[in-house]
Amino acid sequence: MPGQPNVTVVSHPLVQHKLSMMRAITTDTSTFRSLAREIGMLMAYEVFRDLELTAENVTTPLAEMQAPVVAGKKLVLAPILRAGLGLMEGMLDLMPSARVAHIGLYRDHKTLEAIEYYFKTPDHLEERMVALVDPMLATGNTAIAATQRFKDAGAGEIRFICLLAAPEGIAKFTAAHPDVPVYTAAIDSHLNDLGYIVPGLGDAGDRMFGTK
Ligand code: URA
Repeated sequence: MPGQPNVTVVSHPLVQHKLSMMRAITTDTSTFRSLAREIGMLMAYEVFRDLELTAENVTTPLAEMQAPVVAGKKLVLAPILRAGLGLMEGMLDLMPSARVAHIGLYRDHKTLEAIEYYFKTPDHLEERMVALVDPMLATGNTAIAATQRFKDAGAGEIRFICLLAAPEGIAKFTAAHPDVPVYTAAIDSHLNDLGYIVPGLGDAGDRMFGTK
């Protein structure tokens, strides 16, 4: 939470405005998807502001110079299927050469536990920064399981990016993975009995893909 060292709320007015539009029940599927993509791009700008730079020789029309370029191995964007896809697209717009890993986890509706059904990543995760992307940090179970899966597969540096977080989810996630910074556009009031964030925006996957 604000004041908690590993949680950053991306409070940029454009992000906040677009998030409010996403929350509205009257926002249709196509607008919801576009907004998720736009916020993904804006959040990436903030989340990766500390990427390491190196210098490369570049010839401009006037002179040669040592110009800054992003250093190191390619980033990995890792959307948690399926709602993470929408947010990830915008991040990929900004960083088109990033690698993409997919992790499929669904929430068992009775236990709210995360069950894995798909996992595919680029090689050498230990040399890359992994940005896990899921719009909703609700109970924290999915985020915790996905983060653990990437750690087990070798990832060392992981960041977790979401649109909305519940205080319960943040507390549980940061306790389980204190080394993983969380970036969110907002922290809402609470979770309801069904594990939905309140006031939230409803089911992010259904709203993004028009499945309800
Ligand atoms: N997943 C969603 O899509 N919405 C919530 O509010 C919580 C989890």
